[in-house]
Amino acid sequence: MAKKERLKVRTQEASARVKNFDEVPFGFNEAEAVEEASRCIQCKKPTCIDGCPVNINIKEFVRLIAAKDYQGAIRIIKENNSLPAVCGRVCPQETQCEEKCVMLKTGQPINIGALERYAADWEAANGKIEEVKITPKLDKTGKQISVAIAGSGPAGLTVASELAKMGYKAVIFEALHLAGGVLVYGIPEFRLPKAIVKREVDYLKKLGVEIRTDVLIGKSYTVKDIFEMGYKALFIGVGAGTPSFVNIPGENLKGVYSANEFLTRMNLLKAYLFPEYDTPVKIGKKVAVIGAGNVAMDAARISKRLKGVEEVHIIYRRSDKEMPARHEEIEHAREEGIIFNLLTNPLELVGDENGFVTKIKCIKMELGEPDSSGRRSPKAIPGTEFFIDVNTVIPALGTKANELLTTNVEGLKLNKWGYIEADPETGETSLPGIYAGGDISTGAATVIAAMGAGKKAAKAMDTYLSRE
Ligand SMILES: Cc1cc2nc3c(=O)[nH]c(=O)nc-3n(C[C@H](O)[C@H](O)[C@H](O)COP(=O)(O)OP(=O)(O)OC[C@H]3O[C@@H](n4cnc5c(N)ncnc54)[C@H](O)[C@@H]3O)c2cc1C
Ligand code: SF4
Repeated sequence: MAKKERLKVRTQEASARVKNFDEVPFGFNEAEAVEEASRCIQCKKPTCIDGCPVNINIKEFVRLIAAKDYQGAIRIIKENNSLPAVCGRVCPQETQCEEKCVMLKTGQPINIGALERYAADWEAANGKIEEVKITPKLDKTGKQISVAIAGSGPAGLTVASELAKMGYKAVIFEALHLAGGVLVYGIPEFRLPKAIVKREVDYLKKLGVEIRTDVLIGKSYTVKDIFEMGYKALFIGVGAGTPSFVNIPGENLKGVYSANEFLTRMNLLKAYLFPEYDTPVKIGKKVAVIGAGNVAMDAARISKRLKGVEEVHIIYRRSDKEMPARHEEIEHAREEGIIFNLLTNPLELVGDENGFVTKIKCIKMELGEPDSSGRRSPKAIPGTEFFIDVNTVIPALGTKANELLTTNVEGLKLNKWGYIEADPETGETSLPGIYAGGDISTGAATVIAAMGAGKKAAKAMDTYLSRE
């Protein structure tokens, strides 16, 4: 009997979706979820689990979906992952669990991401969110022990949910006016609807987590203040939100946005709904995004959806094989008509007499020997300079640690890039009672890696607090 093909998730047609911000993939319906789950051969050694950074029992939850026990499936997922509706949508499964699925040998790994999303969406639609019984952890005076968390991205949210379930009073301090970190200010609505992030944050509040927004740790309160306020431990999960630039002439011209500013205006402040929301973004007919990671794809795909934009370019100095963005994002960007200028390096941004950017001077590149990151390093081909006409330029070249908090804590060890030195197994820093994890200790990584770090840190914080 011929093996069944992996079921793809249906998506909005590219021609329709470039005119809206609605979610692109529709997700599986019940029949599709059961059919895809039934392809799983229930391996004796389920290698898929080794590929999952938080070790979800994938084999078991897939089996339960095939048996139509969706409540059972979501229960299994939630044992290890408190944000399944998010991870089912944004995790790079193709380099994690699906890469390790034995079915890949025949070219067709199980669509684990879509099944995880199905179980999470089923739970939300059916309102059968299971109650968690919590016994408060009290100190000698009978007061519940409080723990502070700086930052409400996936790392901070995970620490808070794990500690709250253990009985601690978990209080998150978030610099922005909404909780969620990159999930709300970075990843666009059409990849991760904000209602889903809100649902997950509301669930945390039900667990007793308190979220205090518009509070910048390091400025509104110092780390010393936190301990003086009675918190017995602190988790730092402030991400890596400082933008990097190309450092070429012309980057200060009008019409050049850092990807962080552009994405924050669009996603957090809803500039794409201006004037209904009062933050505008001035954008021209021709947009160029420099870089080819997830941030670049998001900036390019948002631009493509904005009124008045006719052409969107990605400019990347390596070839398509080296592009760091998720495969699905690159495929979707291509379908949506984004123009990929690969093996192309920007040299200079050129402006008009009023200081607005009008052109990018570029040069063609070729790949040489692999560099320290293992990727083949690009070299300019002399005499191949050319210009691309643009009105808006968005450098999206990755991010760095925000120094406001990290450099103002005496004794907190940082590595040479300015990230907090934290034990990868426990999140312990150089200071007792202070833990760190997520992008602020690893540099820009993934949602699931930040969650994994949060989970390990919560366990270590519990051990520390019990000992104290
Ligand atoms: C545009 C974009 C797209 C991405 N797409 C994907 C994807 O598809 N899949 C994937 O797995 N990963 C993706 N990533 C990476 C992923 O989002 C991050 O690795 C992850 O969010 C890191 O989580 P975190 O909790 O460490 O930090 P963050 O999510 O950055 O959260 C940190 C939070 O701390 C707050 N904060 C900062 N300083 C302070 C302070 N001093 N006091 C209080 N609060 C503070 C910030 O406002 C923020 O809310 C993407 C990243 C970006 C930027
Ligand atoms: S490796 Fe693939 S086929 Fe085997 S149990 Fe995991 S998901 Fe199923």
